[in-house]
Amino acid sequence: MSKLALRALRSCGIFSLTRTISARMARILMYHNFSGSQGTDPDALNVEGLRRQFEYLRQHFHVVPLLQLAEQVASGRELDTNLVALTIDDGRRSCYEYLFPLLVEFKFPATFFVLSSFVRGEDWIWTDKVVWLSEQSTPPAELVPGKLDALFKSLNRMRPEERNARIQAMARSIGVSIPASAPAKFEPCSWSELREMADSGLMEIGSHTVSHPILSSITDEESWKELTLSKSQIEEEIGRNVRCFCYPNGMAEDYRPSQVQQVERAGYDCSVIAQFGMVSRNSDRYRLPRIGVARKSTTLEFSKYLDGFAYYQQKLGAGAG
Ligand SMILES: [Zn+2]
Repeated sequence: MSKLALRALRSCGIFSLTRTISARMARILMYHNFSGSQGTDPDALNVEGLRRQFEYLRQHFHVVPLLQLAEQVASGRELDTNLVALTIDDGRRSCYEYLFPLLVEFKFPATFFVLSSFVRGEDWIWTDKVVWLSEQSTPPAELVPGKLDALFKSLNRMRPEERNARIQAMARSIGVSIPASAPAKFEPCSWSELREMADSGLMEIGSHTVSHPILSSITDEESWKELTLSKSQIEEEIGRNVRCFCYPNGMAEDYRPSQVQQVERAGYDCSVIAQFGMVSRNSDRYRLPRIGVARKSTTLEFSKYLDGFAYYQQKLGAGAG
């Protein structure tokens, strides 16, 4: 749908209508990476875009902690109106640098899902290595624009060791070697930055596994270790209980039902997926859907999703566009 058509629909009041009829459904927003003023990387929302989103949220919604929303879902009662929870995946330092000051300013709570091996400095995120390779002056042939999605799909299905070998081979094919630690825009937060955010009372620290494996590509024994070891490593460093979990990649084919049960058995109170959707009283608190907002830097794009218009559009079979 064109911007012009969307603008016309909004001025007719369609967005405020869908916001009203979907008021008892909660929204969980999914962020990954941020950039400073005037940042132009499409995958890192810059602070101006973020501020516009936050102003819209302050005007029309109640931003609450993810755990509070999960508790309402668990109670089975009707949800409070216009609830939004903010979530950020992976553990990159840009969250501390750019998002956290805005959380403080707006007094918005959020949940940050971190990879424990990444924060420990043992490795950086394999998906970022692929993006880094695609940004080299002569990227590997399979990483040119248009092919990236297909490559991610095939890498997601591989076992971790096979995938790492494939990424190393791509680097060799263009004569570069993958840096041992993450370049600046992919750097992790330190434990003390995570503690500072947790101590502010605004940031809940959750687990996103130890090493970002796609759970369906590993055994149940391995996923149990990812769930329990990441939890204990984070708890030891931040001195707080880790109660929320986030599935790597988080689409339906990325985890098995047995692993959803493991999340509960490992002691988590809720978990989020990456599939698009809104949360109702009938949702499963161990499979809470989210709305990805990285590339939605204008208020028009953001409100299309936040106000529920995109949700109903998808329900009616028109696609979320
Ligand atoms: Zn992730």
